[in-house]
Amino acid sequence: MKQFLWHQYRVQITKKNVKRTNMRIHQDDPTLILMSIPYGMSYDAGLHTLEQPRIRQWLKNYEQRQITMPTTEDRLEKERQKRLHAEEYRQKLLAVIPGMFRKWEPILGVQSAKVTIRPTRSQWGSCNTRNGNISISLWLGAYSEECIEYVVVHELTHLLERGHNARFYGLLDQHYPDWKTCRERLKQDP
Ligand SMILES: [Zn+2]
Repeated sequence: MKQFLWHQYRVQITKKNVKRTNMRIHQDDPTLILMSIPYGMSYDAGLHTLEQPRIRQWLKNYEQRQITMPTTEDRLEKERQKRLHAEEYRQKLLAVIPGMFRKWEPILGVQSAKVTIRPTRSQWGSCNTRNGNISISLWLGAYSEECIEYVVVHELTHLLERGHNARFYGLLDQHYPDWKTCRERLKQDP
């Protein structure tokens, strides 16, 4: 095994029982190229393969990717932001949701059981019509109170009508006429 300097890279060449030259960039060190060459090939010849246009292009692509790829710190910052928002959304939902249930349960003549806030991405809310448990997505906290209220009314309406059928939408029209605007709003980013 030998190491060489080649442009801005260090190249570590190892002779191995391989049929042709293989190379990759070290996953934790983007300045280190790891290369294996057949026993019959000289180290110089191995180093020389880096001059091939297709290899130069491969490295150029790699370097460009490196620049745009978020660094670990960027990723950590994004995670931190997400957690911050999650807390903010939870607080907002906790502040407005109980009042909405108190308002709408007597209007609709229904009674929910347990209400939970969950970080679900697939749906804004869900209602278990057997036990009356309702779950509200944490990410709804990014939207307006009208949209949050729509989801509350939607889920409570399921306690009257399980399916998304004409009766269900009729009940929504009757109680929350602006529900379509909210539904559209919730299809877009907050
Ligand atoms: Zn529904």
